[in-house]
Amino acid sequence: MPAAYQPETPGEDLNVLEERWHHPRLLRPRRPQRPQPKLRAGRLILWVVVGSLSLGLAAGLLVRPPGRVGHAISIRPAGQPVGPAAAGEPTRYLAAPAPAERPPASDGRVPFAVPILMYHEIAVGPNDLYVSPNDFQKQLDFLARHGYHTVTLTELLSAVQGRSTLPPRPLVISFDDGYDNAYRVAYPMLKKHGFRGVFFVFVKGVGRRGYVTWAELREMTQAGMEIEAHTWSHPDLTRLAGNPARLRVETAGARAELEGRLGVAVRCLAYPYGRYNAAVLAAVRQAGYEVAVTTAYGYVRATTDPLLWPRVRIGRSDSLASFAAKLVPRPEPKESARADRPERTPLVAASSQS
Ligand SMILES: [Zn+2]
Repeated sequence: MPAAYQPETPGEDLNVLEERWHHPRLLRPRRPQRPQPKLRAGRLILWVVVGSLSLGLAAGLLVRPPGRVGHAISIRPAGQPVGPAAAGEPTRYLAAPAPAERPPASDGRVPFAVPILMYHEIAVGPNDLYVSPNDFQKQLDFLARHGYHTVTLTELLSAVQGRSTLPPRPLVISFDDGYDNAYRVAYPMLKKHGFRGVFFVFVKGVGRRGYVTWAELREMTQAGMEIEAHTWSHPDLTRLAGNPARLRVETAGARAELEGRLGVAVRCLAYPYGRYNAAVLAAVRQAGYEVAVTTAYGYVRATTDPLLWPRVRIGRSDSLASFAAKLVPRPEPKESARADRPERTPLVAASSQS
């Protein structure tokens, strides 16, 4: 086991951590055909104990979701009133402007800026790649109570391109790597809130011990979750510049495999370790991806290159207060100062309305 990680500064260091921490998992043997009862039972008990503060969580874990869910999760109706603050909630953030508190601009473009939250493991763990189920539950409760609406990356792209509009307070909740707790923990919690998540999986990991299975991904797809690509084998793509064939497998190959196995369109990719360069961008574009997300900190604006959408990392060190603060995009100073730029006008107009 790697030693506990002590980040000096949040951000890029965690990309290095992900490489050191998670790569050994790829070397584990394939998941056996039959589940291991002892392991599963132990984990279930752990989750129940961790989640026992919340009856809802406990219920969600004890009742295994049905093998097939025949309906898509609907998005919460627009304009739903925002609930009152609960006891102990960081009220100083409640008065802050939410990303899309105001209606979207008339041309349907993103009104201000939308956060794509980035999670890895929803489990108790030693570093910021983990968020405990208990904290995750509190974060989802917070989002629901304050009228946030989850959208998929496909929906966000459609809005950015002016083909549709977004619900009030939109955000994307994304998960990298496809760990088994994505299905066992995150998915039931999201479903219970009527939220949709975006799960980036890499082909080689699916079905291995510690990761989701193809059947689980199919079930999640049918329940309205979005499954997207995180390459074939989770390499640092910038190291494949001299190997175009391998780069094609990691990008186009992963997309084709996911689409074939899941029967859904795959349009988005997450760069492993957030790394990319010109050759990687060209390969990603050539493979037909319309969106690619990085690990750079930031919010999606209508003017952001869709192959370089930044995200907002959430980790175990986040309190509910810091989580809430991260939902409020910091405006780019240039944006209001440069209203003369035609492509920025809708953003300025939307953000100055009240
Ligand atoms: Zn990853």
